[in-house]
Amino acid sequence: MRAYVLATGDELVRGRSQDTNSAEIARALCGEGFTVCGMATVGDAPDALVLSLRRAAEAADVIVMSGGLGPTEDDCTRRACALAAGVAIRRDPEVESWLRRRWAERGLVMPASNLLQADVPEGAEVLPNAYGTAPGFVLPLAGARVYALPGPPREMRGVLADEVLPRLRALRGDADHVVRTRSLETFGGRESAVGERIADLMRRDAWPRVGTTAVRGTIRVILHAEGRSAEVAALLDRSEAEVRRRLGRQVFGVDGETLPEVVAARLLASGTTIATAESCTGGLLAGALTEIPGISRVFPGSVVAYADDQKTRLIGVPADLIAAHGAVSRAVAEAMAEGVRAAFGTDLGVGVTGIAAPDGGSAEQPVG
Ligand code: AMP
Ligand code: MG
Repeated sequence: MRAYVLATGDELVRGRSQDTNSAEIARALCGEGFTVCGMATVGDAPDALVLSLRRAAEAADVIVMSGGLGPTEDDCTRRACALAAGVAIRRDPEVESWLRRRWAERGLVMPASNLLQADVPEGAEVLPNAYGTAPGFVLPLAGARVYALPGPPREMRGVLADEVLPRLRALRGDADHVVRTRSLETFGGRESAVGERIADLMRRDAWPRVGTTAVRGTIRVILHAEGRSAEVAALLDRSEAEVRRRLGRQVFGVDGETLPEVVAARLLASGTTIATAESCTGGLLAGALTEIPGISRVFPGSVVAYADDQKTRLIGVPADLIAAHGAVSRAVAEAMAEGVRAAFGTDLGVGVTGIAAPDGGSAEQPVG
């Protein structure tokens, strides 16, 4: 079944706050075996919402939306859903008495405007909200169903889990349909170069869907398949094997594993010790390693030697080597690696030197 995710809020379309709800909802829908075919964000405007709702209802079987259920004039999800479905608004007596009780229990008088939160489109089923005062609802809409959830992330999450996902599971029945994504983490090739080697697998009509995305210096190859569980598993396995065959040693991990995690795991498994000497990275490499729990068994330490004379004083890089080759050179990087390995008595040493961006580069020695 196909699903569409909708978010509403002026603050979202003006770029003042981020729509985190939609991504969470989409992940949950994929987890339930729904094909998420689209997503949209619209302002707090009934007309715009009605248009988006109608388009979503054409594209999908279920629409899950968040926001616009507050008690103020700018919250127009109820109105827009009623308009789109061509129904009136009714006041739900059970929600009304629940709201009155809730305020009374806290010793407060309910402002009249909060009664609006007891309004639902005719024909809608109320979705109780145990996390706040705005209940959600589910409404048939042009052959689809729209599930309207409150905007605050904690409330959205709660109502989604308690009320929406169980209904979606029932709607889907026991159809054997899964939506699965697997990622292969690669390092050492530019995105375009990786893309060229797997171009035929990335054709938009190919299955599984294959895409790439750059993630902090690494390239992630994403495999995505939907269908019967056994077929999906076989498809992904076959596709993974093919990508690995083409990219070889560039593939270092799966499903979000990071370079530091993988390197640390191998060092720990083999008991190989390592020390690092860093110039331009100023300790970033050591920082990445020390984020890994247990790394102290193989990583005794690091030296940040930024100035040339400190490379000599701390890790014994010969001054005349620096004078002859320049600090940013293969010879000095090697001497730093050797020097730090000797200083810490480790199996491996790593030396990092380079020209920190943005200034100082030249044709022979580019920044980085
Ligand atoms: P609303 O019910 O639309 O007035 O939303 C109430 C609050 O929930 C907003 O002020 C936001 O802080 C938050 N919120 C609404 N929509 C979203 C969204 N799509 N993603 C993250 N937070 C949201
Ligand atoms: Mg809002």
